[in-house]
Parts: sequence; C-alpha cells; structure tokens
Amino acid sequence: MLQVRDGLKDGLGRGITYLRVSVTEQCNLACVYCKPRTGSLERATPPVMSRNEVVQLVKVFTSLGVRKVRLTGGEPLLRRDLETIIAGISPEVEGRVHLTTNGIHLARRARALRDAGLSGVNVSLDAADRDTFQRLTLKNGLDKVLAGLEAARSAGLKTKLNAVVLRGWNDDQILPLARLAQSEGLQVRFIEFMPYRGNGWGQEQFMPAAEILQIVQEGLDAELQEEPVIGLEEGPARIFRITGSQGKVGVISTLSDDFCARCNRVRLTSRGELRACLFGNQPVDLLKPLRQQATHEDLVQLIRRTLIEKLDCHPMRRGEAPILSDGMWQVGG
Ligand code: SAM
Repeated sequence: MLQVRDGLKDGLGRGITYLRVSVTEQCNLACVYCKPRTGSLERATPPVMSRNEVVQLVKVFTSLGVRKVRLTGGEPLLRRDLETIIAGISPEVEGRVHLTTNGIHLARRARALRDAGLSGVNVSLDAADRDTFQRLTLKNGLDKVLAGLEAARSAGLKTKLNAVVLRGWNDDQILPLARLAQSEGLQVRFIEFMPYRGNGWGQEQFMPAAEILQIVQEGLDAELQEEPVIGLEEGPARIFRITGSQGKVGVISTLSDDFCARCNRVRLTSRGELRACLFGNQPVDLLKPLRQQATHEDLVQLIRRTLIEKLDCHPMRRGEAPILSDGMWQVGG
C-alpha cells in the first residue's frame, strides 16, 4: 500500500487531512433548511456504497494522510451497519472517527457506536423548544434527541451541539440553546444558514455569525472568553468559553467570514463521489473505478488529480452562484 509521502495536498498546497463521508442520503427528518421546499421532492436513494466500499475508499484517503473522518448523511444512524463501518475505519485514523447525527436514534446506539471505535458525536439541534423543533424538522422529536444527547455523554463520547440559525424561524432559540450549553456544560455551535439546492435560502433568513454572537453576548448572564483557534480538524468555529460554566458557544461563519484559505477537508458522497468543495467543483466518481478493480495507485492518482482543481474559495465569495448539483443531504453537510 502506498504510504504518506508529502501527504495529500490540493492545487494551492493546502494539506487535506479531514474527510467527511456521507453514508446515506436517507433521512428521518425533513429540516426546512436542508430538504427542497419547492418542486418535486426527489426520493433519496438507498445507500449506494456497501460498508466494505466505504471502508475501502476511506482507507485510500487515510493512506494519503487523512487523519480524521466524520460520518454524516442523510441520517447516518439509519444505516444498521454503521458500527461495522466505524470499526473498519477507526484503526486507520487512531480512533479519530466522529459522527454528525440528528440524534433521533442515538439513545439506543450510543454505547455500541463507542464500542465500535467512535470518539465523538455532533448532534444537530436547532431548537430547545418542542414547537420550534417540530416546525423546523417536521417531526415531534425533541425528547428523543435530548435522550440521545444524554446517552452519548454517558457513553463517554465527545459531544457537541450544532444549530443552524434562520432568521424568523429559530433566532429566538439562540439564547435558550446557549443557556442549555451553560447549564449542561455542553458546547453549542451556531451555523450560518447556507444556500443549497432547493432549500429556500434567502438574505432575509440569513443571520450572520456576528449578529448571532451579539445576541449571545447581550443575553447570557455570563462573560464569554474566546479560545485560541486550533487546527481546522477541530472544526471551523470561533469558540467562546462561558465563564462560570463548562459550557461553550461557537459560531461558524461559512458565508460572512469563510475559512477557505485554511480549508483542509474534502467530502465523499454516499454515491461514492469525491467533492473537493461543498459549494464548488463537480463530483468525481470513485466508486465506479473501485468496482472496476482500479488499483490503489489508480485511485490515489484520481484523488490527487481531482484535488488539483479544488477551488481557492467557495463561489459565493466572488458573488457567484454555488455549484449545487446535489442537495445538502446528498453531499453530507
Ligand atoms: N442528519 C444528520 C444531522 O442532522 O446532523 C447529518 C446530515 S446534516 C445534512 C449535517 C449538518 O448539515 C447538520 O448539522 C445540519 O444542520 C447541517 N445543514 C444542513 N443544511 C444546512 C444549511 N442549509 N445550512 C447550514 N447547515 C446545514
């Protein structure tokens, strides 16, 4: 097997060390900011890659220097073989396998996921109140998510919350979620609403990270202390410690203040395609060559060639439209 030489670099010399893998397009929620709101709702196809194929492709990336893998979707917990996938990947990245989930099925899987080699889980939770949760996700699932969160923490998984903020939908949940972080000693990260295929993005719903942070600063009865920025493998958020608590709040400013210059990540879609940029670059099929018996070296060369073209920044920074051939649930967020 090919060993890491200079690691994996894109055409601009940025080191690629973080791979996000969508293991399925299917989801048990229909979040308004993710699924198409207009036109015909495409049916999500069942997982395309077998568990062996996921592990095989991930191994090609880890052989090139990828050090952290995040499994996402769709909803990854809809895959019954997720633990097997994790067990196959975890030794390749010294246990740095993480999961992003809506948490609906987390309570009963948390221990098995940890035993398989998972080290951390990001739970998406955009509301601390039942009605807003239901309005955003079209499901009455808040209690299940909170139970999942608790189970993940008791299983010893590193646990964080992610909340996408849409003005007029859940901006009134910023403070309740920050207070949850404060009282429970959790980390909650607020994510700017991103435009994606058919998700109804508009300026009127977009709330920049600076404004979100201001709401937290003015509303929380505690000081916030910014933590030093560490590598992007820890995520692109600006993180603030809430004084007097173990809790932290973070903001992810994908649009208002992007981190493209430091980008270290690529994505593998559930169809086995490499996406060099969430918003740009056409996907490149890795699964077909894998199924046609491509050698390890063939796949390495295909990945390296694809990454030469990785955009310097997402197209929106230049005022251009993003390349949205897939939905967010297909690419994996
Ligand atoms: N089903 C899982 C979940 O809910 O976490 C994983 C897939 S979801 C697509 C991954 C992440 O993308 C979630 O944290 C979700 O909130 C985020 N996301 C989806 N659409 C988004 C959008 N338009 N803007 C910002 N974040 C978005």
